[in-house]
Amino acid sequence: MAPEDGSGSRVLGHNDAGLVAAHESDSGPNPSLATAVFGDGQAPAGPGPGTVVIVGAGPAGLTAAYELSKRGVICTVFEMDTVVGGLSRTVERQGWRFDIGGHRFFTKVPEVESLWREILGPEDFLRRRRLSRIYYEGTYFDYPIRLGNALRGLGPVESVRCGLSFLWVRLHPPKNLDTFETWTARAFGWRLYRKFFKTYTEKIWGIPAEGIRADWASQRIKSLTLGKAISNAFGAQRHRSQVTSLIDEFHYPRLGPGMMWERAHELVEAQGSKVLLGTRLETIRRHGGRAVEAVTRPVTDPANAEARGGSRTATPLTCWAFDHLISSMPLSELVLAMDPPAPTEVVEAARALRYRDFLTVALVLPVERGFPDNWIYVHSDKVRVGRVQNYGSWSPELVKHGRTCLGLEYFVFEGDKLWSMPDDDLVELAKTELEILGLVRPGDVEQGYVVRMAKAYPVYDEGYKKKLEVIRDWLAAEVPNVHPVGRNGMHRYNNQDHSMLTAMLTVATLYGETFNTWDVNVEADYHEQQVGRQPSRRGAEVTGAGRAVPTAVRS
Ligand SMILES: Cc1cc2nc3c(=O)[nH]c(=O)nc-3n(C[C@H](O)[C@H](O)[C@H](O)COP(=O)(O)OP(=O)(O)OC[C@H]3O[C@@H](n4cnc5c(N)ncnc54)[C@H](O)[C@@H]3O)c2cc1C
Repeated sequence: MAPEDGSGSRVLGHNDAGLVAAHESDSGPNPSLATAVFGDGQAPAGPGPGTVVIVGAGPAGLTAAYELSKRGVICTVFEMDTVVGGLSRTVERQGWRFDIGGHRFFTKVPEVESLWREILGPEDFLRRRRLSRIYYEGTYFDYPIRLGNALRGLGPVESVRCGLSFLWVRLHPPKNLDTFETWTARAFGWRLYRKFFKTYTEKIWGIPAEGIRADWASQRIKSLTLGKAISNAFGAQRHRSQVTSLIDEFHYPRLGPGMMWERAHELVEAQGSKVLLGTRLETIRRHGGRAVEAVTRPVTDPANAEARGGSRTATPLTCWAFDHLISSMPLSELVLAMDPPAPTEVVEAARALRYRDFLTVALVLPVERGFPDNWIYVHSDKVRVGRVQNYGSWSPELVKHGRTCLGLEYFVFEGDKLWSMPDDDLVELAKTELEILGLVRPGDVEQGYVVRMAKAYPVYDEGYKKKLEVIRDWLAAEVPNVHPVGRNGMHRYNNQDHSMLTAMLTVATLYGETFNTWDVNVEADYHEQQVGRQPSRRGAEVTGAGRAVPTAVRS
């Protein structure tokens, strides 16, 4: 895309409200480069979309750039951070590498699977065995829960109590099954619900379980009723073999998920597109029933950018005219960036969208002091930590010889006590909590690092659907050339694959194909099983009921 001053950009003053309606479109197809990078079979289809700018170099933004590159379109990606990958980045500190949460690569969307392989190549895409357990009162339980293991862990007396509790709830089912608590208690009995579901779920969402809507439970753990667990334990072999591959194994880039997106970054730049790191989209100018210009500002405080707050110091603005803007920035911020602003009702809907934030305390220790699991869920209300990752089990190349690195995950709200705690205090807290859990002695910890990540989870609270509807309707009517994609970009609890799929479908729509990207989502049994419909870019099966996410009954 050509700059407006002929030198790379048009520099504006801070109060420059001037509208540039003239579109640049010198980013036409460049088939020779595309062929060089992507091979012959990727000829551009149909008329090009003109100038495309993309906000965010996470999985969705880079997938959009990659798909456009395949079709010979050179585009510009604005990324406010200093690294690519978004939530799927790999953080590197002094040679240690860790995820924002562990990122398993698994999908039922064939196009996404092949894209991962195409970008990364087979050698770097490891197949890893999965071991994950629940820690509850000093005992480890397999996760996904297996009946025999659960009975052994509970012991005979507690097992009988849990069985009776299950029978009791069958005879006296809760009247109102609208909440996570009553739905799960009905499926498992009150005792098992309290042991295996309540604490962790409350930690993730910061909402009491009785205030979380049943949607999450009914979709996320739909196939895991006590009845089914019993039938599996007594030999439903066929069913078990169907689910094994996704439960017991997953793919993972050798150097962490960020490796996928670093490679994608290289590929799109090799094709001629630009990923502008440290560049925050601030304003989208509207004119004549469309969005016409993106205004960006350099982010001058990289540390702050890592926490995704960016910085708004007095640095020059740059304007970019475009035909289409693909946005993976948080939907709320997209709306608030509009100039002239959206109507009050739309702005209020945007302001009301909420997020749950996340921080990891990564602790280095001798490998023999770790554990074999990839991760452990901590179902204990004696500690704040929700999950402990063992990065050495994800890939040996994330850690150094003879050492592993444990990532203690805390679900927080930006600005709350934990979020604001100094790093050294967080490291001490993490050490203390590992000791309380009996996992690691503080003296074994050699080094600690803290990574904060704002807006890790879009929250589905009461009324969020209505707010989304208001925003979607307005965007479609007033700025039809602005295309929200991805997780926060659509306020959807999407994993990488669905974040990517929304980007792939969006690019296809720019070439005249018809898809409703808002229909892309995760099927109920997606996470742990291989059964069920598969979202696909072929259209018919893209529809989905919505990803298993908690919805607060009251905010
Ligand atoms: C704890 C945790 C565990 C997860 N585990 C898995 C897993 O096991 N498997 C899996 O597939 N997925 C997992 N996910 C989900 C996965 O991380 C997301 O689906 C994926 O990263 C979303 O991609 P995205 O491009 O839509 O958004 P993001 O990854 O959020 O990327 C958006 C990018 O936009 C940039 N940006 C935002 N605003 C602006 C702006 N104004 N200007 C410029 N740039 C901007 C951001 O800096 C960011 O880089 C997990 C997520 C979390 C939080």
